[in-house]
Parts: sequence; structure tokens; C-alpha cells
Amino acid sequence: MLVAKNGIMYLKPYGLPENILSITTTRHAGFSKSEYASLNFGFHVDDNVLDVEKNYAKLRSIFNIDNIVTLTQIHSNITINLDNTDKSTSLVGDGLITRKPRLPIGIMTADCFNVQLIGGKNIANLHCGWKSIYSGILENTLKFFDNNKDIIEYAVIGPGICENCYVVSKDLAIKFSDLIKNKSIFRLKGDNYLLNLRKIIKLKLENFVNNVIELNYCTLCNDFLYSYRRSNKTGRMLSILMKYE
Ligand SMILES: [Zn+2]
Ligand SMILES: [Zn+2]
Repeated sequence: MLVAKNGIMYLKPYGLPENILSITTTRHAGFSKSEYASLNFGFHVDDNVLDVEKNYAKLRSIFNIDNIVTLTQIHSNITINLDNTDKSTSLVGDGLITRKPRLPIGIMTADCFNVQLIGGKNIANLHCGWKSIYSGILENTLKFFDNNKDIIEYAVIGPGICENCYVVSKDLAIKFSDLIKNKSIFRLKGDNYLLNLRKIIKLKLENFVNNVIELNYCTLCNDFLYSYRRSNKTGRMLSILMKYE
């Protein structure tokens, strides 16, 4: 659901418990200019660093949260458990896990999906583009919850590129349908192979998560969201997951 509050606009899933903060930002009401306009959270995309810092400060003050932990995302299957990681090291990977309250974990996207998992003890936030999904980031994280005897009550699948917009190579479409053993995850439109990443994520989560909530917005169809396929010089949305207690 799109929410306008305190001068920004963000996406919020409905149906989560009260002790969970889950948001995904949109482009609106930030400080970044021109192609980054305006609520960009990516420091790595050549935007003005001071503007990005102001965007973070605005978000922190609106939601009354401390420093948001993010990582250098590399489209891998690596998920980092912050509770046994040295905070001084730079974090590289595509997923964050914690069981600590009041520790906001952030994932940046612009066409890839963010997937948030909320267990009885742990929470996880994942950057899910095709490479991470193909190499098993979801399975790795589900295994972590299982090893910790933590049942995943909720998953939130964020905005991402839709099945009508995501043109991929024939090779990639076939690779995925072989992996998932489901031919309906892509379709042909003219000569174009259209891949349904959202459906792939849902198939991988079913049987492991009690409630799957979707923020069903396409980043390329909706120009209030950043899309790398619309323009490769662009900003990044931030998805934040935190438990209050
Ligand atoms: Zn990505
Ligand atoms: Zn679309």
C-alpha cells in the first residue's frame, strides 16, 4: 500500500505485527536532483554524496531509527548474520539477518526485488535479482531460519520489475524454468522472453512461509519508483526492516 506521511511517500505492507517496521521508499520528497530525483539512497551511483546523506537523515528522523545497516550488494547468494559479524568490517553480500531489536537492516533496489523475512526470532532482508535468486540466496536464508528452529511467519515481497517488462535472453528463461521445473515462469511475446521473477520468488517461498505479503508494484511501469532498465543512471530505493522489540 502506498502511504504518504510526514512529507514522504513509501510502500508499506499491511498485516504485519505491530512490533515490525517494514517500509520501501519511493522516489518522492528527497534532496537528490536531476536523474537521481529525489529520494535516492545509493551512494555508489554517482549522485551527490551530501544529498544522499540528507536523504538518509530525513528517513531516520521520520521513522525515529538509528543508523540503517546496508551492505555493498554484489548480486550473490551471501547473507550476513549481523549478530556474529564484526561491525567494523565492511559488509559485502546481498542479505542481512539479525535478531536484535531496534537494528534497521536495509536493502537497495531499482528493478531487483527486496524480500523481507520475519521469523519468531530473526528477521532478514534480501536483495533478489536473478543472479542472487539463481545462485540460491532464498534457499540459504530459509536454511538459516530452519537451522535456528525459527519459523518464518511473514515474508514481504517488495516492488520489482514485472512479468510484462522483464525481457531476458532465451538462455536465461530456459535456465530458470529448468531450475524451478515450472514452464510458466516465463512467456514469449513476439521474439521476447519475459521472465516472472516475482512468481519465482513466490514459488521458492511457498511451503516455508506462513504468510506472503506483496507490494505488487512494478519499478519500470511506475515512474514514482527507480528503475535501472528505464535509465541506467538512476537512484536506489531503500527497503528497511526492523523489529521494535
Ligand atoms: Zn539489484
Ligand atoms: Zn512492468
